[in-house]
Amino acid sequence: MNILMLANLRAGLGNPVLYDYVQALGARDAEVTLRFIREGSDLSYLLRDVSEYDRVVASGGDGTVSSVAYALRNTGIPLMLHPTGTANLFAHNVGISGDAFELARLTIEGIPVAIDLGELDHDAGVGFLMIAGAGFDASIIDRARDLKPLLGEGAYFVAAAQNLQPTVATFILRLDGRQIMTEGIAVMLVNLSHIQFDLPLTHGSDAQDGVLEVVVVKTRSVAELLPAAWAAILDRLGKHSERPGLEIYSAREIEILSEPRLPVQSDGDIIDRQTPLRARVLPGAATIVLPGGLLPKDTPPGPGIAL
Ligand SMILES: [Mg+2]
Repeated sequence: MNILMLANLRAGLGNPVLYDYVQALGARDAEVTLRFIREGSDLSYLLRDVSEYDRVVASGGDGTVSSVAYALRNTGIPLMLHPTGTANLFAHNVGISGDAFELARLTIEGIPVAIDLGELDHDAGVGFLMIAGAGFDASIIDRARDLKPLLGEGAYFVAAAQNLQPTVATFILRLDGRQIMTEGIAVMLVNLSHIQFDLPLTHGSDAQDGVLEVVVVKTRSVAELLPAAWAAILDRLGKHSERPGLEIYSAREIEILSEPRLPVQSDGDIIDRQTPLRARVLPGAATIVLPGGLLPKDTPPGPGIAL
């Protein structure tokens, strides 16, 4: 098997897992071409001869996986994740874990599965596999960035607690031509997310149904948000009707206008734009190598939420 590996130099720098993984692939007779993603790298150049490979491996965190998946959109070339970032939420969500040998086995024996991709501002170069959002979630991601190396996932909670008065915005949402006026502290576009902020999130998102879920977070303060609204978002039982403080829609083409303008995040990275924001789903545009060829659906009910 001929593998093109793109490794983000920022994630897992100095970490020997990359060598162990490459060696484990070699032990399985794979041939590996290794290229590095640096600040400002041109992914289309790194992928210039991608059609000559059987697999692409993205070695890095969630941002690396999303940007490589987006660069490969609609090519059908299978993408395998080698998680080396801080959070690795996508790998966690799709059940990819294990040591170098297990990941090498999965790279070769896993089955490519087509899943939907989200795209922001049509063809402007930003895609997401999990969640993009405007408002409070972008604010806490922005604040959590400096805390992440120290606190890992806990950084999100510290950042949320620091942001005690989230901006309440007025939103106009255009969802497949339908216009909705509402208000809240965030609008999240969900493609795939069973687990976010280190907790299971199950409101029935399906990354293979060709629509994004549009979640308006209505609460006005962190006091309401933690734990009540998050408990609702994070409800493992999936009862849509019993979610105080949330409005949930589905759409293929989305436009978000807000007053005031709000910051935007895409799969955990703050991106260089604010609302107004356009987004759409690219059905089946990403091909991801998964254990058993299966995308895990909703997490089964388990013990209480550890908030
Ligand atoms: Mg969907």
